[in-house]
Amino acid sequence: MDKLIYLDNAATTSLKPEVLQTMMPYLQENYANPSSVYGFAQEAKKALEDSRETIAEILGAKPKEIYFTSGGSEGDNWALQGAAEQLQDKGKHIITTKIEHHAVLHTCEYLEKKGYEVTYLDVDENGLVTPEQVEQAIRPDTILISIMFANNEIGTIEPIGQIGEIAQKHNVLFHTDAVQAFAHIPINVEDLHIDMLSASGHKFHGPKGVGFFYMSEKVRLGALIHGGAQERSRRAGTYNVAGIVGMAAAAKAAAGEMEENIRKQTELRDYTIQRILEEVPHARLNGDRVKRLPNNINICFRFIEGESMLIMLDQKGICGSSGSACTSGSLDPSHVLLAIGLPHEIAHGSLRLTLSDETTKEDLDYVVDSIKGIVERLRSMSPLYADFIKENETPLQV
Ligand SMILES: *Cc1c(COP(=O)(O)O)cnc(C)c1O
Repeated sequence: MDKLIYLDNAATTSLKPEVLQTMMPYLQENYANPSSVYGFAQEAKKALEDSRETIAEILGAKPKEIYFTSGGSEGDNWALQGAAEQLQDKGKHIITTKIEHHAVLHTCEYLEKKGYEVTYLDVDENGLVTPEQVEQAIRPDTILISIMFANNEIGTIEPIGQIGEIAQKHNVLFHTDAVQAFAHIPINVEDLHIDMLSASGHKFHGPKGVGFFYMSEKVRLGALIHGGAQERSRRAGTYNVAGIVGMAAAAKAAAGEMEENIRKQTELRDYTIQRILEEVPHARLNGDRVKRLPNNINICFRFIEGESMLIMLDQKGICGSSGSACTSGSLDPSHVLLAIGLPHEIAHGSLRLTLSDETTKEDLDYVVDSIKGIVERLRSMSPLYADFIKENETPLQV
């Protein structure tokens, strides 16, 4: 394939060449275990602590509040399982939303089997949860609120600061899955009253299999992974030094270019959304128009299967997604699209395109032109569409 247009940056991102360069020494000559005492290990140890400082600074946190993990799923599991175990004497009630990533939702289901009670808050038609809903759900036995910073499918950004304030007021721990938000939009854990936060390197042009968990010094959850004394005995396992160094380098680069990237991507995002909605009939934008990640486009095309569309886009060298990477392969429509109230048949026709700082307007014009042709072809083969046209001489807008 001569040209690849990669628009699945919510699933994973490319590893930046300059990030790889920072990692190379720790994959080759400097292979020491940073926990060792000899001089040879000291450089790795220093690289590790510098990485911790870099990430802490971006978040407005202290270095000792950053714990290196294997990624976003581990952080989500740690927050939920850790709080459940630590606070079971206070209560067994957890508050989350219906649109969380499966790393949160499936952990909640696991905890429900162990006797915990979970409130899954509804979201509105744009995927937003309100601070009032959160406050109303709090009970004397509530031990944790876990609400994602921004949704991975529809890009909606939740009112995290206000939720954090409410959690603090009621003395309930607050965790946010910030995997899609960290290094993409500004986050300050102090200002937003966040107690715990999960992030993942491969979602911001760092390597895969490495992430971090922010845990405020006021919170003292026990370990999820037991073993050696790494990470103040809270997260055992020999350090993935190269991965951690790469993640920090990627975070630093992203933080430095954040304003510019937000501006550029928002403009391209809005341009593309507008073109699609104007030029493709029966298309509908999913997610909030404004409270939205700069790189997220999610659109439903009526009378079309998202999967068929993906295959045809793939033939044109375009990588997109339908629903989320974790649910493709299953025939159920995305839980997020159902939660925002879409009927099954419309939710099936969703397409998610997520941009990166490498995405150009030319790429997106080619993608929109391709989509127009594909939608027309698929609809021409759709009996549902034929029926619809017969019934509606003046076609309705969705
Ligand atoms: C990708 C993702 C995760 C999982 O992160 P991994 O590092 O792949 O384990 C969790 N939450 C959200 C919102 C994500 O987008």
